[in-house]
Amino acid sequence: MKKNSEVKGIARETLDFILEVSRSTYPKEFAGLLEVKDGVITDVLVLPGTESSESNAVLKLFMMPNISAAGSVHSHPGPVIRPSKADLRLFSKTGTRHIIAGYPYRHNNWKCYDGSGRPVELPVLDVELEDENVL
Ligand code: ZN
Repeated sequence: MKKNSEVKGIARETLDFILEVSRSTYPKEFAGLLEVKDGVITDVLVLPGTESSESNAVLKLFMMPNISAAGSVHSHPGPVIRPSKADLRLFSKTGTRHIIAGYPYRHNNWKCYDGSGRPVELPVLDVELEDENVL
């Protein structure tokens, strides 16, 4: 996977997906890795069987064999979307964009942080997610 220092934003569909998975997993948390295509986050690798406690969700990410993703995403069971200490340790390990979604997982209930836990702007982009490759 290539370096993703220049992440332009996240595809609207991908953000909708994240919020939807957060809602359907609630009150459990979900965690996943973000994948970037052409500078836009278009994919989420959802980790199966994410446990109900925050530290477990984040620990699962730590244990991913290939943690060279563009970043991570996980949900919090409450409205607080500030990164915990465990979150910060994870953020510093991989990627430059880390999304936390908080209850009730609407469009303003998420935030993006960089590798050091500072809030960063992550524009939501209307891009076509095409399955057919135009070569
Ligand atoms: Zn967290």
